[in-house]
Amino acid sequence: MRVFFIGFGQAGGKIVDMFIEQDKKAPVRSFRGIAVNTARTDLMGLDNIDLRDRILIGQTVVKGHGVGTDNVTGAKITADEIDSIINTVDTRGTHDIDAFVVVAGLGGGTGSGGSPVLCRHLKRIYREPVYALGILPAPEEGRLYSYNAARSLSTLVNEADNTFIFDNSAWKNEGESVRSAYERLNDEIVRRFGVLFRAGEVGKTGVGEMVVDSSEVINTLRGGGVTSVGYAISEKVTKSVKQKKGLLGGLSLKKKETSEEVLTGEDKSAKVIGLVRRAMLGRLTLPCDYTTAERALVLIAGPPDEMDRKGVEKSKSWVEENIAGVEVRGGDYPLESSKIAAVVVLATIGDAPRIRELLEIAKETKEDVIKSKERRVTMFDDEEIDPLFE
Ligand code: GDP
Repeated sequence: MRVFFIGFGQAGGKIVDMFIEQDKKAPVRSFRGIAVNTARTDLMGLDNIDLRDRILIGQTVVKGHGVGTDNVTGAKITADEIDSIINTVDTRGTHDIDAFVVVAGLGGGTGSGGSPVLCRHLKRIYREPVYALGILPAPEEGRLYSYNAARSLSTLVNEADNTFIFDNSAWKNEGESVRSAYERLNDEIVRRFGVLFRAGEVGKTGVGEMVVDSSEVINTLRGGGVTSVGYAISEKVTKSVKQKKGLLGGLSLKKKETSEEVLTGEDKSAKVIGLVRRAMLGRLTLPCDYTTAERALVLIAGPPDEMDRKGVEKSKSWVEENIAGVEVRGGDYPLESSKIAAVVVLATIGDAPRIRELLEIAKETKEDVIKSKERRVTMFDDEEIDPLFE
């Protein structure tokens, strides 16, 4: 799948920068990426996105210093300067892409406010689907972050064709602060979504037995709403050619051999099924009740010798038995790797406790803000003293 990424705000920019870094190392380039921000320093901190693809917006309003946590200002600046963002998208070219993915942290200001506005405009202008990848704040970041995230997400689900969610709080370790966890969390995000978004791209390892092309990813996401992704990786199944060259003192090897054990067909199927179960029952990007998913996609990536049609078919049936809907797509794609990875996309989730909690916090916060305004007392409301001017 060829993806045009737009990183909005600090988190969005950093994550897209990492997708581009990953893509530079891949056998075929599938990703394109730009970053948009109201804070100059955040844009300067990126490494892999071209300088001309880093767009500073809101200069006349916030002078390159960012909007803080004011997502209403983030949304307004984005609406006012949408033309310069779209111009950059056009300049980079969109004729050969399959989808847009707008990445943003939903608890802050720029990405939280700007990403729904951008999704709306991209959808109006282009035919390709527009997806969002939204990062949920951890509760320790405070009620304002939760309030921002709830408002942003409620808007985003109506503007994007589908919204992938990654919940920071589900992924940071006990006792660890969110900030110190960013690098590790971003690695987890880019690894999972990198496998998914690269589905269907043909590398030098050839085409898979059951290819998942971009239209299958798009059809899986057609229902809209929010989507969670599971991922599992096997232990080493083959020694990479490089390693063997090293081991055998540089002798060239004609054929890739399996390493420790030679797997039979049954073993291979069992391995694939086991991985898919681990992916779906393990930690999801958004912890949720997977039985409420409307559609799913099962993706197996790994060395060509290890791909197994029967395993993929059986895994698909197992996923189908466990979700609400009946549409489960799936397939494989060969990758030069010593491990097998399974990705399970649980699309259009009906219930996720963390989102319900966020919406609840947002409602309470709104009520508290109204009440505190009503309660506000001031020393200067004495009507007997006239102000200098009205
Ligand atoms: P913005 O620049 O105003 O859009 O706001 P930020 O992106 O700085 O922050 C918004 C949210 O994203 C907050 O909840 C942060 O905890 C989170 N966040 C910021 N940077 C990162 C990051 O690198 N990785 C992850 N996973 N989350 C981040």
